[in-house]
Amino acid sequence: MSTPTVPQLLREAHRLRRHLRELKSEIDLGPRVQKIQEQKLAAAKQAHAEAHDAVQKLKLKIRDDEGTLKQENTRLAKFEGQLNDAGSPKEYEGKQSEIRQAKERIAALEEAILAGMEELERRTANLPNDDQAWANAQAEFEQFKLDAKERLDRLLADQKATAATLAATDASFPAAMKAQYDRLVKAYGPDGLAEVSGKVCGQCRVSIAEQQRNDIVAGKFVCCSTCGRALYVEPTPPGVG
Ligand SMILES: [Zn+2]
Repeated sequence: MSTPTVPQLLREAHRLRRHLRELKSEIDLGPRVQKIQEQKLAAAKQAHAEAHDAVQKLKLKIRDDEGTLKQENTRLAKFEGQLNDAGSPKEYEGKQSEIRQAKERIAALEEAILAGMEELERRTANLPNDDQAWANAQAEFEQFKLDAKERLDRLLADQKATAATLAATDASFPAAMKAQYDRLVKAYGPDGLAEVSGKVCGQCRVSIAEQQRNDIVAGKFVCCSTCGRALYVEPTPPGVG
């Protein structure tokens, strides 16, 4: 393989540096994606706990209501027994009022118990779905962790290999232009280098002089007179120029 020309080196360095920048942003994205997945898992866990909780609470409430119903029935029987012992019409009237109120409370309790039992049945029937949803969420999270690790390993390996290739490319620059090159990539990262498309600088979109283009093709280190980036041109097709 022939020694690469300066434009070839600049093109390669530009490609590698942009690729490294993309890799870094992808790697940096990892913890944020992980956090979103953790929040999703926590929400699924809470929904699952709440589904079971709701069943327990309903059972307790029905038991409470049934206890109260029993007391109300006892009280009603007592009031009804006292009705015949009423000493005066006023007392009789009062007792009847108590009986009426007790009957209203009993009706309301019976209605609440019935509604509670219907809801309990519905929620209990749905518990297998709730359990399945939680199991699915956990399995999805485990799969996410596996995928994320595989992805990170791949990105890190790519990063390592690309950095090594870049180091070799950087070391190939002629000594005369190395300091300038280093200064530009230090200041601007990948954007310290720019491809000329036609006559236009890929960084600032301003046209360059014909002579500059000739100098680039001739292998000189040329910086854009507008934005200062090191320029390279598209490869010359074989047999042309
Ligand atoms: Zn420019």
